[in-house]
Amino acid sequence: MQEQDQINNAITFRQLIQKLPAAVYTTDENGVLTFYNDKAAELWRCRPRLNDPTEKRFCGSHRLYNLNGNPIPRDRCGMAEALKSRQHINGMEVLLERPDGSRINISVSISPLYEGDRFVGAVNVFEDITDHKKAEEAKWRLAAIVESSEDAIVSKSLQGIIQSWNKGAESIFGYSKEEILGKSITTIIPPDRLDEESMILNRIRRGEKVSHFETVRITKDGHRIPVSLTISPVKDSRGRIIAASKIARDISDQVNIRNRLMKINEELINSNRYKDQFIGMASHELKTPITVIKSNLQLVDLKVSEEDVKPLVDKTLENVEKLNSLVSDLLDVSKIDSGKLQLNYSDFSVIGLIRDCIQNMRLICTTHRIDFDEPTQDIVIQADKERVEQVVVNLLTNAVKYSPESNRVLIQADLLEDNNVLIKVTDFGIGINESQINKIFSRFYRVKDLAPTFSGLGIGLFISREIVERHGGKIWVASKVDEGSTFHISLPIRPAQQQTNNATG
Ligand code: ADP
Repeated sequence: MQEQDQINNAITFRQLIQKLPAAVYTTDENGVLTFYNDKAAELWRCRPRLNDPTEKRFCGSHRLYNLNGNPIPRDRCGMAEALKSRQHINGMEVLLERPDGSRINISVSISPLYEGDRFVGAVNVFEDITDHKKAEEAKWRLAAIVESSEDAIVSKSLQGIIQSWNKGAESIFGYSKEEILGKSITTIIPPDRLDEESMILNRIRRGEKVSHFETVRITKDGHRIPVSLTISPVKDSRGRIIAASKIARDISDQVNIRNRLMKINEELINSNRYKDQFIGMASHELKTPITVIKSNLQLVDLKVSEEDVKPLVDKTLENVEKLNSLVSDLLDVSKIDSGKLQLNYSDFSVIGLIRDCIQNMRLICTTHRIDFDEPTQDIVIQADKERVEQVVVNLLTNAVKYSPESNRVLIQADLLEDNNVLIKVTDFGIGINESQINKIFSRFYRVKDLAPTFSGLGIGLFISREIVERHGGKIWVASKVDEGSTFHISLPIRPAQQQTNNATG
């Protein structure tokens, strides 16, 4: 009866081991496999024959390697060693290779087996620790990244107690890990900024992140340093906020550079303001003597009759006119800069205006014919007549100036469907390189390499654009090098405010 009980117990025990989640196998004292459970077969991915001395001994795995990847001969494996020494082996880690070549990391524990005093073999319990190893490696890699970061990476509890402190934090704030762990984060917050901490912790408790918060922190030796903080909530596996992680970057260099740039910028703004004031004042002062010279010269011109003096007077008058227009342009730039360019609106005919401009051009230009492609119907617009005339004359003057090899300029006007008038000035001259096209409307911009050949200040188109845009219009150019350019101006026939009133009223 007792024997039967023993047999029954052994069966129950085997069934129990068979179902264990851990892999288990036994060998006799010679290493011949005497038992293994399903888990062992699953990890080995094979089912070796039991009690067969011709079958592989000591272990059912295909091959074994140590953690460096060196093969372990079968008769030198943990089980072989344990059988030899009759000693326990605990927690030994090896790599197990399956018949398909895949490898897993296993931890092995071996115990010698005795029947009474007789040594009969050993039992090996092993488990797959591959995932555990990978997680450990990832954790280790992350820790190495944190440690090697130049930024301070710190974690603190929701009560503001410092829980971790990397090398970056040591070098920025001067406290070693040992000194600071367990202390309050307020250790590095200047007294006048303590309220920041409660603001930050409140946001973290609400699950919010604080990004690139620029502030000041204090180092162990009492220096205040500018830092940029990014603070995020740390959650546990159930999503509860349990702490805060903080990355602090020392931005002393950026702040110094920024301050220097701000100072330089301020100086530039000031000197620019002085320059603008000077240009405004100088052009204003120049205007009066030029007007006197001009009117006196005009009188002299009327009185002079000698053949050889008259051309001299005419040439002088022409140059005084040029000087006058340069000074007027400078005065306009100064008005634009100070926001004092006024527009005086009136109704006028576009055809009439263009005819006047052509008339004026004829007085100063003898080299080119200006053809006007007149629209069939007159177009009346409400704008600042003098200023629009200034733009058209500027475009015509440029068209003549930049087409020295040609003798013709074409001007066209059209009423567009969107209640805009389009004026086009075409020349057949040197054209403009595509890379320069967007720049020529900038203040003082002149196309490179042309400066010695063509005189000018590079402000005519800047003023023209300002005048056109102030009217709510647009100015642009289409051009081909060595073929010529067409400058376009579109102007609303009524100021925007009035157009809306008309539309609604
Ligand atoms: P300026 O003629 O006094 O230099 P503008 O502001 O009127 O100044 O013109 C700016 C630049 O645009 C000129 O220097 C010239 O290089 C270019 N430009 C203007 N009009 C023409 C044109 N019709 N053909 C070719 N280039 C032009």
